[in-house]
Amino acid sequence: MFHYYRDSSVRRPGAAVSENLPMSKHIKLFIPGPVEVSPDTMAAMSQPMVGHRSKDFQNLYAEIQPHLQALLGTSQQVFLSTSSAWGVMEGSLRNLVAKKVLNCCCGAFSDKWFDVAKKCGKQAESYQVEWGQPILASEIDRRLATGEFDALTLIHNETSTGVMSPLTEIAALKKKYPDVMFIVDAVSSLSVVPIAFDDLGIDVLLAGTQKALALPPGLAVFTVSNAAFERAATIKDRGYYFDFIEFRSNGEKSMTPSTPCISLIYGLRHQLQKFAAEGLQARYARHSRLNGMVHDWVRKNGFEFLAPEGYRSVSLTCVKNNREIDVAKMNSLLKANHSMIIDGGYGKLKGLTFRISNMGDESDQTISTLLAALDDSLAQASAL
Ligand SMILES: *Cc1c(COP(=O)(O)O)cnc(C)c1O
Repeated sequence: MFHYYRDSSVRRPGAAVSENLPMSKHIKLFIPGPVEVSPDTMAAMSQPMVGHRSKDFQNLYAEIQPHLQALLGTSQQVFLSTSSAWGVMEGSLRNLVAKKVLNCCCGAFSDKWFDVAKKCGKQAESYQVEWGQPILASEIDRRLATGEFDALTLIHNETSTGVMSPLTEIAALKKKYPDVMFIVDAVSSLSVVPIAFDDLGIDVLLAGTQKALALPPGLAVFTVSNAAFERAATIKDRGYYFDFIEFRSNGEKSMTPSTPCISLIYGLRHQLQKFAAEGLQARYARHSRLNGMVHDWVRKNGFEFLAPEGYRSVSLTCVKNNREIDVAKMNSLLKANHSMIIDGGYGKLKGLTFRISNMGDESDQTISTLLAALDDSLAQASAL
């Protein structure tokens, strides 16, 4: 009888809830999102609930603002959206596109943004490059020069292909095209490399929490330029849930338009405190160093990179399967023998590539352990 309760999700009457929680086996994630969440961060989220219109919530919100502003490099308000990143990605289109949007497409997420623009009923054009290639400022310049566009979407770090496009060069075009709203997804690059919203002069910067911020999914952070608020104010049918103007007026009172995921915000506060203790510069340096360790492993094993040199992501590595190994086999051995997983390639790149994430709370030690486990799994997969 006792075993029955212990091994199932049915609660033994009178038992402490935690005693009977069904737990799945812990497989450590080295996929590029969701990433591994540290036990201390999980614990930080288990705090008593507070009312979202209470002083306690306002204090929580206000406490994390300066940390978020430092992270996004802005003196603007940083908003908390209870949604995954896509909520704000779609919301940005609804708030800012009146005429036509130019969607820069270089992989699964950026291609999808073009699709979403059309689904929102917006006029849209894609600047499409082959998966694995970066987005270039010169081509954006050429397209914007037509005068057809009033918005642009760019994914800074295209997670599906491991490509980081040259954000600084692209953002410099904003000066030439002040009426074009530059909407930038930094979902898998925020806190990996420095991104300074105010200096870049862009209009929207957004990220979800389950990538480099190393939290569970369900929360997105974003900031908006004054020019973008002005544009939004002229747009009808912005809706409510992602209305930038609602976020601004609620934010002024340290609140969100609707009931937010308060537990995740406790977790975010904890992560931001960890970032401050480590130092942002040290955090960027750590990501770069760990990414370099993965790159060394790739070269040592005779693999190539999908992205050309100079445009490779610092958050993850997209490895070209030029050795034609059985990626699925390697990954299943990694899981069975070492309780870890990497990603076996996104969409049409499945099996042709594999991706290794070094985002979040990883360390020299955890990445070394992963790479040793990959050596073992690769050798076993090749021997079969
Ligand atoms: C993961 C990811 C998204 C989508 O995030 P959701 O959390 O699924 O909404 C968007 N853009 C990039 C670059 C991503 O890596």
